[in-house]
Amino acid sequence: MNLRECIKDKQRIVIKVGSSSLQHKETGGLDYIKLEVLVRELCNIRNQGKDVVLVSSGAIAVGKRAVHLGKDDNPIAVKQACAAIGQARLMMTYQKIFSEYNHVAAQILMTKNTIVDPLNRFNAHNTFSELLKLGVVPIVNENDTVATYEIKFGDNDTLSAIVAALIDADLLILLSDIDGLYTDDPNQNPNAEFVSVVDELTDELMDMGKGTTGSSVGTGGMNTKLQAAKIATSAGADMIIANADDMRIIHRIMDGRDIGTFFKSHKDENFYLADYVAAMEHV
Ligand code: GLU
Repeated sequence: MNLRECIKDKQRIVIKVGSSSLQHKETGGLDYIKLEVLVRELCNIRNQGKDVVLVSSGAIAVGKRAVHLGKDDNPIAVKQACAAIGQARLMMTYQKIFSEYNHVAAQILMTKNTIVDPLNRFNAHNTFSELLKLGVVPIVNENDTVATYEIKFGDNDTLSAIVAALIDADLLILLSDIDGLYTDDPNQNPNAEFVSVVDELTDELMDMGKGTTGSSVGTGGMNTKLQAAKIATSAGADMIIANADDMRIIHRIMDGRDIGTFFKSHKDENFYLADYVAAMEHV
């Protein structure tokens, strides 16, 4: 069976969607049509009897808009206040759409401590397990309201890979505003080639992502996506980067179509999630 065909058999899937994929570019307001299609796709995966976890950004962006703050960078306390406002709004919207499809969503907010502290990690693991057993769709974000730099993951690409590792997912899908991995920045270099499959994350490849910043709304560029790939594939999950322009891409990926960049898992028996997170540099 080829790599893409194997995706049909995946049982536990983590899907990450970035802020820029949930907003209208012009105004920053939530794109309800995209959200609705996203939720429908997730409910459809649930209806196939698979476990699905959503890692959704957007708390700070939604909060900023709610209190009419512009696009400028704000001090950390303001961002944290915006996250408190926006996270609740975002969840309200998700809850509403999930319930329209008779599915239940739950919220899990995490910091680095959730993983580094053994008791916290044990509790988080148990909560995910129970929710998935109950057929609920956990929606995860960083606990931006309390996370300061020393306990911050900093971006949801990394967070989603950590979640995938924590719950032993077999597939992580990162959806953002790019089609996948290129040999160079396609906006700058017309000769940049698309990479469809990454067998192994070599040092050369990891270097390729350095210096990319990504979109202005989220925090993840290609570098964070490659870091995420390192975590997910070491923990035993395959990973795909694909474009969230059309959320129906999710079922196309799940059908085994050749979409986005596929990173093959290489389970590393010496990979310890807590040690990895503890050693992560502060952002
Ligand atoms: N946790 C942040 C938020 O919800 C987003 C982080 C990211 O975009 O990677 O606003």
